[in-house]
Amino acid sequence: MQSTAWLSLGANIGDPQAQLAEAILALDMHPRVSVTARSSVIITKPWGKTDQPDFANMAIAVSTDLKPLELLDVCLGVELAMGRIRKEVWGPRLIDIDIIAYERVEIVSDRLTLPHKFAHDRSFVLDPLREIAPDVADWIVTLKR
Ligand code: ATP
Ligand code: CA
Ligand code: CA
Repeated sequence: MQSTAWLSLGANIGDPQAQLAEAILALDMHPRVSVTARSSVIITKPWGKTDQPDFANMAIAVSTDLKPLELLDVCLGVELAMGRIRKEVWGPRLIDIDIIAYERVEIVSDRLTLPHKFAHDRSFVLDPLREIAPDVADWIVTLKR
């Protein structure tokens, strides 16, 4: 069964726009993931840790038969393949791929929180999401957690 998930992509070192494009291509090449919508790219000030370059951010929709944790592993795999090294949370990155939401699933676990735990508080996530899925953005804001 196919499900729809919405992903947030961000990058702020290297060539951020090129890395967003590369990540979308890599996700779409996965045999069980198809990219079905993409927002425009917005340039934003860093969130949480402000002494670093501006970010390029966007949101995409994917159709997949993967379960949420399997989709997370695909996202982390693409990050790794693109050379992301995790040094610090909220630090500069070549590419960050977060699952904003997976259908209307609500999960709180060690490895995965859905909707993403800070999505409701981040305009760099909500604004692009609103372009491709306004109903999902409204749902996340209403849930507020
Ligand atoms: P933030 O989660 O605040 O956006 P970050 O993206 O910098 O910070 P990462 O180092 O990329 O944090 O991710 C740390 C871990 O967050 C991941 O290994 C993953 O297990 C976990 N995680 C929990 N919920 C999600 C989610 N909805 N999407 C992506 N990762 C998640
Ligand atoms: Ca993130
Ligand atoms: Ca992340």
